[in-house]
Amino acid sequence: MKYDIAIIGGGPAGSTAGCLLAKKGLSVILLEKESFPRPHVGESLLPFCYDIFVKLGVLDKMKEKFLRKPGAIFCNKSGEVETTYCFKHVVENPKHLSFHVRRDEFDKMLLDNARSNSVTVHESTRVSKVDISGNEVQLEVEGSNSETDTVTARFVLDASGREGVIARKNNWRRPMEDLDRVAFHSYWNFPEVPDEVKRGLIRIVYLEGDKKGWIWCIPVDNKRISIGVVVDKDSLSGFKDQRTNDKNWAIDFYESEIESSSFISNMLEEATRDEKVWINGDYSYSSKVKYGNNFALIGDSGQFIDPIFSSGVFIAMKTAQIVADVLPEYLNTKDLQLLDKSYDTIANGYETVGKLISMYYNPQMLDFSEMVTSEMGKDENDDFTEFKGAYTMLHYLLAGDFFEKGHIYKEFFESLKDGRKFKRWKSLVNWDKEESGVFYNRDERCGENLHA
Ligand SMILES: Cc1cc2nc3c(=O)[nH]c(=O)nc-3n(C[C@H](O)[C@H](O)[C@H](O)COP(=O)(O)OP(=O)(O)OC[C@H]3O[C@@H](n4cnc5c(N)ncnc54)[C@H](O)[C@@H]3O)c2cc1C
Repeated sequence: MKYDIAIIGGGPAGSTAGCLLAKKGLSVILLEKESFPRPHVGESLLPFCYDIFVKLGVLDKMKEKFLRKPGAIFCNKSGEVETTYCFKHVVENPKHLSFHVRRDEFDKMLLDNARSNSVTVHESTRVSKVDISGNEVQLEVEGSNSETDTVTARFVLDASGREGVIARKNNWRRPMEDLDRVAFHSYWNFPEVPDEVKRGLIRIVYLEGDKKGWIWCIPVDNKRISIGVVVDKDSLSGFKDQRTNDKNWAIDFYESEIESSSFISNMLEEATRDEKVWINGDYSYSSKVKYGNNFALIGDSGQFIDPIFSSGVFIAMKTAQIVADVLPEYLNTKDLQLLDKSYDTIANGYETVGKLISMYYNPQMLDFSEMVTSEMGKDENDDFTEFKGAYTMLHYLLAGDFFEKGHIYKEFFESLKDGRKFKRWKSLVNWDKEESGVFYNRDERCGENLHA
């Protein structure tokens, strides 16, 4: 049978695209090499996913199944300096409450949802070859008992994530050297629900010094937290011998980094690690070609960018939605300008996140843990008003406003390059802390009400 659309991969990008296209009446086949549920990293989502959940018809299930996420805290290793970014400051109710998910369940829920919207889903089916040279696309697929088959479609969406079937085969993938990081993560169980889980915020800890990295704490379940350590690849060069001779080196490295943060090690005093330490390398990359006459790359298969701002799942679903919006018309008209436009929007999104990430790794320029809340300041002046504007912009960006307003953020990032301006803002922070004693950086009310 020939399909309109074949999709490689059933992660968030693949199942979102599949569901939206099937809802528009196209015939869609989705091929997933694993059998779901399967584990996956990437558990903290952004408020801007909310509208996509509504479109897919899964919002109620999300509310039933997963913890809510009202915002993010950035802090230093001891936790003494911290700033809360509470999404409710900028996102209208009820969308400000995002989610933390267990990815095995989340991905399965999305895939089942695609299936129940008439997508033909084959799990345990690996796409081993893709031929995009003709008008139609031919995919060679292997089932679990190694039998092979051919699938024909008018168009293929590659949603194969970091495996990047089409980009790798064509040698299109390029690393983003300055964001070359490695992540180590595992899961910790607590005897009681810890405070960190009760309020539902993700916490990002700056690793100071040369490591250009960070630690994430994501509450994934009532008594369970995912903790990941991210460092740049160069800082692992001193561990060459251990990596060859000691099979536990990754655990030792992971635990020593955790130990180096008094805040995290105190938090984990009563907790036990209940999974292996997972390692994710080959961090950030982009495919130099992302679409053509009969194919398009969505989600991680086209580009992956350091997930410091929990952007991956949202970007995967959003790129899927942007492409799904134009594909029915494209298949009728073959007007490539439709895809040109979609991929301009997508490129804008990645560029905006990329700039935000560069800013994070340059804390001299802007230290996310050392901003203050909009409660501060009685003697408002021009500097202060500018500061508040910037602080609000950062909230929007952390909520996921990457795609449509790129031009506004470009100006914002440019203005932050003026070191003098930032110094003036920093002095406002100090002024606030020392002189007035008004509400400083710990927004205890964020996460007070996790129901919406
Ligand atoms: C360390 C780390 C931390 C992260 N933290 C976060 C976070 O907190 N929040 C967040 O939003 N994102 C996070 N991410 C990013 C997030 O995991 C990804 O961006 C997201 O999963 C991308 O979705 P996707 O659908 O494009 O790919 P995936 O979710 O990877 O799905 C791809 C699917 O394709 C299948 N597949 C692959 N090859 C084939 C083939 N040949 N044939 C058939 N099927 C195939 C795979 O089995 C898989 O199911 C993190 C990533 C890393 C590495």
